[in-house]
Amino acid sequence: MTPDYDLLVVGGGVVGTLLTISLTRAGFKVLLIEKGDFTNRNLPSDRCFALSVSSCNLLEALGFKGLLQQYGNPIKGVVVTEGFAGEGARGEILEFKPHEIGKDSFGCMIRERDLLAALDERIKNEKLAQIISFTKVIDAAPDQRTMQVMTSDGESYHAQLMAICDGKQDKLGEDLGCNYVGKSYSQGALSCTIKHTKPNEGVAYQFFMPSGPIAFLPISNHSVSIVWTNTCSVIDRLSTIDDGTFLRELRPVFGTFLGDITLDSTRGSWPLELSLAEELVGGRFALLGDAARKIHPLAGQGLNLGLRDVAAFVEIIQTARQRGEDIGFADVLERYQQWRKFDSFAFVATTDFFNWIYSRSFPGYDLVRQLGTGVIAKIIPFKSYLIKEAAGLAGDIPVLMKSNQG
Ligand SMILES: Cc1cc2nc3c(=O)[nH]c(=O)nc-3n(C[C@H](O)[C@H](O)[C@H](O)COP(=O)(O)OP(=O)(O)OC[C@H]3O[C@@H](n4cnc5c(N)ncnc54)[C@H](O)[C@@H]3O)c2cc1C
Repeated sequence: MTPDYDLLVVGGGVVGTLLTISLTRAGFKVLLIEKGDFTNRNLPSDRCFALSVSSCNLLEALGFKGLLQQYGNPIKGVVVTEGFAGEGARGEILEFKPHEIGKDSFGCMIRERDLLAALDERIKNEKLAQIISFTKVIDAAPDQRTMQVMTSDGESYHAQLMAICDGKQDKLGEDLGCNYVGKSYSQGALSCTIKHTKPNEGVAYQFFMPSGPIAFLPISNHSVSIVWTNTCSVIDRLSTIDDGTFLRELRPVFGTFLGDITLDSTRGSWPLELSLAEELVGGRFALLGDAARKIHPLAGQGLNLGLRDVAAFVEIIQTARQRGEDIGFADVLERYQQWRKFDSFAFVATTDFFNWIYSRSFPGYDLVRQLGTGVIAKIIPFKSYLIKEAAGLAGDIPVLMKSNQG
């Protein structure tokens, strides 16, 4: 059977959509299948993403420089510290400046809706991309030469290779035999936009509270996107109380360092889980984005890792095609797995460790933790390693993510 497409992409979140654009630009014929409404995203909240330097490079390389200039807000500094409701920052402070890695910024903040709107507009014009909305992939079966997928509307499609970008929502990877390790954090995250009267100067703040971290991420000089982590029951309550009561609860946590605050968006909330696929590939398929791993949002890296999957995946299969290899062949997929597996594991472990270590508070332990933070602040090579990781500039960077300015 001759395959209808080179690739099937399952899931049209940011990862699946950007993957489809990257693949078609590299000359592959792609079918993207999305279970939701691709033409009207109708996002429930005003969530924003911190995009690393390398993710911004990828978007620029794919022709989205204008999007970043118009809607991106550069992150000019990062402050990480412990915080306590009503007391603000406390103890040792870790402060990161982009010039420490020779950059003007650590990347930028962007609203999910602006990013998706630009991707959706672009994909419509990609001649090699076909999109099917409101259709779920319900089953998939590889054979010697193709991957066949069955969809909820009773159709089936063939391609050489399937990229699973389903955010692990429908567990397609598991159905195909992938094992995941992980746990529920028994925590949720709430996100919304807050306006404030004093300028933030583009600095992102991460306060580690005993109940979970809270981040203030600069979306303009006078507004931040907050990501507030707490137990599921607290997050459920914070999501449903009225705006006035919410602000009264937020004020003592937020503190006054950015002046008076007002709510500037609806609130969205997400349950948090840690999950890591033990294998990133199988018979004629590969896992990308949250389908490959889900991490705690405290480091703002989940999407950045997914975009790195995209850039590495495209580079590998493009090279394979140039060499005349079958792109769905196990050896080709193994190269993707080798490239991305360690990164996946390292971030899952690091974010889990930070969440664990800072979500505890008792006397002797607090002192040890503060000493640890102080040591990190003073060991310059370790600190710059952490900054490079966060900027997406550590390790083997895919070509599409390297700076276009050289
Ligand atoms: C509060 C919060 C803040 C965050 N902030 C940041 C940040 O600042 N920076 C960062 O890098 N990351 C951040 N993240 C992580 C980031 O949101 C995720 O890593 C990213 O959105 C994952 O994208 P994805 O495309 O892989 O998955 P998803 O966004 O989950 O998309 C999956 C898509 O697949 C579709 N789908 C599912 N099953 C099927 C099926 N069977 N058939 C067809 N379609 C299907 C779904 O409808 C969906 O459109 C944050 C996460 C949270 C919760």
